[in-house]
Amino acid sequence: MTSENLEALRREVRGWLRENLPKGWGTPEYVPPIRYSRESHELGREWTKKMYDVGYTGFNYPKEYGGIERPREEVAVIYEEMGRTGTPGGPLSLGLLVAAPAILVHGEEWQKKRFIPKILSGEESWCEGFSEPDAGSDLANVQTTAVRDGDEWVVNGQKVWTSMWEFADWGLLVAKTEPDAPRHRNLSYFLFDTSTPGFSRRPLVQMSGEAEFGEMFFDDMRVPHKNMMDEQGRGWYVAMTALMAERSFGGTGFSGGMAAMGGLGTSDLLGANALVELAKNTKRYGKSVWEESAFRQRIMQTAIELEAMRWSGTRMAAKMMKGTPIGNEASVLKNFQAEMRQRRGDLTCEILGAYSQMVRGSTRAVDEGDHVYNMLRARGATIEMGTSEINRNIIAERILGLPR
Ligand SMILES: Cc1cc2nc3c(=O)[nH]c(=O)nc-3n(C[C@H](O)[C@H](O)[C@H](O)COP(=O)(O)OP(=O)(O)OC[C@H]3O[C@@H](n4cnc5c(N)ncnc54)[C@H](O)[C@@H]3O)c2cc1C
Repeated sequence: MTSENLEALRREVRGWLRENLPKGWGTPEYVPPIRYSRESHELGREWTKKMYDVGYTGFNYPKEYGGIERPREEVAVIYEEMGRTGTPGGPLSLGLLVAAPAILVHGEEWQKKRFIPKILSGEESWCEGFSEPDAGSDLANVQTTAVRDGDEWVVNGQKVWTSMWEFADWGLLVAKTEPDAPRHRNLSYFLFDTSTPGFSRRPLVQMSGEAEFGEMFFDDMRVPHKNMMDEQGRGWYVAMTALMAERSFGGTGFSGGMAAMGGLGTSDLLGANALVELAKNTKRYGKSVWEESAFRQRIMQTAIELEAMRWSGTRMAAKMMKGTPIGNEASVLKNFQAEMRQRRGDLTCEILGAYSQMVRGSTRAVDEGDHVYNMLRARGATIEMGTSEINRNIIAERILGLPR
């Protein structure tokens, strides 16, 4: 790959982005859709499909499962250009973060061929049904049951805190199939179509004001046996792979982990450059915040942490693509990112000063109130994907070898 070829690719991507980004993108006139809305979901879906069709996303998966194979240098150029302009995000889905990695490791051949390409292209969206009212940290206590009836399983029960619940076409489901077997060996893992009769869902509104997650109910919902992933009774192990992927890539997703897995570029609002811009543009007592060395040091610390996360995400992606399951180190990444997001959210609001009271809808809200939203949303980061306490237990027992 010569530097001329890479420069030609850079021009091609730049031109393509100019032609294809939503009208008004990058100008003050552009008003993004409300975050968890049908409009935002559809924009993400259409954008992902466009990118996939032209070969600008879907990297790091084998070609036979719809992966787009390109040399690393080309991928880097594509991401650089996307990072320069910012782009819409993907659909409201846990497909890339959880479903595709789990299917890649545990799925049967037909499942990999059927589901992964449509996740990479953004056509089908996914949610994850693990947690229940009495099975959060203690996930092995799942009470939702699946009972075999011929070629089907009949599912009954309830899930809660289901992210990206609303527009999911497919769901991941952990259910008890062996009521008499010991813990961890009594669960199985299913892929279910959310249009199946007997399935229903409803929203749960968070303090950020949005219903990012919801509840799911199963009332004699039938799932074909072929939609079971891995063997009967091995659902716990599939769930662990899914959770490890989520902890690693969710952990690094804001700084390249998702990109490393074939995700999309996002606006740099969460990154260090955005913090620099924000500090430069925010004036206090006649001076920009950037001129205060205490703020500069904290912004630089954030930049260092983001870069560390980016490389960790890339390392995780490389490991997974070699077929090595991600291990307990995912807990380190997960906790680091969750706590970093909270620090960064607080820092952003300190930079904004009094403007951090202005949320979306206020004429004086900075960047459509996104900084305030990110600060509020970061509170959930130390709970989702396993709380910080649970991840610390994993680090203590399984990495450091400390006694229980
Ligand atoms: C934003 C967000 C998105 C989510 N998305 C999903 C999703 O898509 N799908 C899904 O299935 N779930 C999802 N969840 C649920 C999440 O996985 C659970 O909330 C989490 O596992 C904690 O479970 P819980 O809420 O039942 O709390 P509990 O398990 O009841 O924990 C309560 C408190 O006790 C502590 N605790 C519990 N056990 C121990 C222990 N052994 N040692 C030390 N401390 C302990 C916890 O750390 C916590 O502080 C999401 C949660 C959030 C906040």
